[in-house]
Amino acid sequence: MEQQDAPNGPQEHRTTTVEQGRFCVARCTCGWRGPARRARSLARSDAEGHAVG
Ligand SMILES: [Zn+2]
Repeated sequence: MEQQDAPNGPQEHRTTTVEQGRFCVARCTCGWRGPARRARSLARSDAEGHAVG
């Protein structure tokens, strides 16, 4: 996998996890949002699955 420091990558999926109360949600720069998870590891798995697929 290559990682580049492109400030504006329109086709790039940059995922992050956001805590919402007791839950954790995966988010992406494309607007995608994963389901609320109780564990951050699960949210990260969602994010990784989205970024790959
Ligand atoms: Zn995305």
